[in-house]
Amino acid sequence: MRIDELFQNPQPTLSFEFFPPRNQEGETQLFTAIEELRPLKPSFISVTRTGGGAPPTIDLTARIQNDLGFRAMSHLTCAGYTQEQIGELLDKAWNDGVRNILALRGDAAPGEQTFSVTEGGFSAATDLVKFTAARHDFCIGVAGYPEGHPQALNLERDAKYFKMKIDNGAHFGVTQLFFDNADFYRWRDRVQGLGVDVPLVAGIMPILNVAQIKRFVGMCGARIPEPLLVQLESLESDPASVHAAGVEYAIRQCEDLLANGVSGIHFYTLNRSKATVLISQALGMKHPA
Ligand SMILES: Cc1cc2nc3c(=O)[nH]c(=O)nc-3n(C[C@H](O)[C@H](O)[C@H](O)COP(=O)(O)OP(=O)(O)OC[C@H]3O[C@@H](n4cnc5c(N)ncnc54)[C@H](O)[C@@H]3O)c2cc1C
Repeated sequence: MRIDELFQNPQPTLSFEFFPPRNQEGETQLFTAIEELRPLKPSFISVTRTGGGAPPTIDLTARIQNDLGFRAMSHLTCAGYTQEQIGELLDKAWNDGVRNILALRGDAAPGEQTFSVTEGGFSAATDLVKFTAARHDFCIGVAGYPEGHPQALNLERDAKYFKMKIDNGAHFGVTQLFFDNADFYRWRDRVQGLGVDVPLVAGIMPILNVAQIKRFVGMCGARIPEPLLVQLESLESDPASVHAAGVEYAIRQCEDLLANGVSGIHFYTLNRSKATVLISQALGMKHPA
């Protein structure tokens, strides 16, 4: 059930990201979306670590894998945990049969401006990767930033830290959302130029709502290209047209990525299926055998 096995197949992977729901309604929405996406035969499903009272990521990952039969990956952050607690979480994941971990630093705690290191914890994903690799024989994914991480001093240094995560034991990268493929190609060239030779999967967020996407890009430091922003704003009063334009843009973006040798496409689904189904069907993507 390791994700890195999939990359031995030349066909790009197709994966979906979900977050742990906070109530019964959200849980129904999540499991409905997963079943609606099942016919697309996803390569894997990943579950974010949200904190703030959300149900435990590892339990949900294990359920999606063991009960629903999908290859699954648990996101794990340094944020909020001591090293000892992280060790316990990794042991639990391993004992529950989870074999794939996306090792992340995490963001600022609610109400804070910047990330602060938990006492006795890790300050960067580079250290979490090393710790995770030493704990059990996990398949480890890490985050990459086509436009640079918002706190990076510069793109070159950010690329060096990405390489350090691979050198410390990570097996593949998944990117932050982006809308201009040129950013992805430049980042891929930059990290490959440093010697990174693992699969690099593109993170794609279909635009479903103008206010929502502006909030997301504001949080993660991504940029909406001006012509796309102008188009979206002109349609803002008509939600169905925004949705259609967002789906159309994502189809074109993914077609270009697939034509240019991307290792996989990872959809940020926001626990909804409609746009992801439309895009994946238009692309004719099928999970490797
Ligand atoms: C695919 C994906 C999934 C995500 N899932 C989640 C999630 O489930 N939960 C969640 O809370 N957040 C999630 N995030 C957001 C992520 O936690 C933030 O972007 C966070 O700010 C950085 O995490 P990282 O693992 O990339 O950190 P790092 O790789 O540690 O990088 C953070 C910053 O520190 C720098 N840096 C890296 N290593 C070092 C080092 N050794 N010394 C000094 N500086 C260093 C980097 O250049 C960068 O500026 C996700 C992001 C992506 C792209």
